[in-house]
Amino acid sequence: MHCPFCSAEDTKVIDSRLVAEGDQIRRRRECLSCHERFTTYEVAELVMPRIIKQDGTREPFDEGKLRAGLQRALEKRPVSVESIETAINQIKHFLQATGEREVKSMTLGEKVMDELRKLDEVAYVRFASVYRRFKDLNEFRQEIDRLERHPDDTTS
Ligand SMILES: [Zn+2]
Repeated sequence: MHCPFCSAEDTKVIDSRLVAEGDQIRRRRECLSCHERFTTYEVAELVMPRIIKQDGTREPFDEGKLRAGLQRALEKRPVSVESIETAINQIKHFLQATGEREVKSMTLGEKVMDELRKLDEVAYVRFASVYRRFKDLNEFRQEIDRLERHPDDTTS
């Protein structure tokens, strides 16, 4: 990292230790150019990225919306609430593990489909075929709502 005093790129770590009960690493550094010393703290960042929708707008990740979507997909299927919660945790972990601040809604959608496939093949096939035609989960959900209202109407 750059020296905060002279912006030189080369700094060396002269001391490194765990602090905050091991949740942080404190590093004492010295600039190789100006020889000033400074301290950095390193912590693991597990933030939920924002979702980039197809139209380019961003929205916060909405766990409630995800849960509603999965529950709808798995309606009348032999899948426990606990399994659905596990899938939600897997999806959240996947989003955090990307390390990105923003993730495309398609990336999220594909991950949701992966998890759905593990839960129930029938629900996966039924919904993946519909979902892939849509740009994001919102549109997908709207289409499912529409099909439920008009089950015989397959045109839009
Ligand atoms: Zn410096």
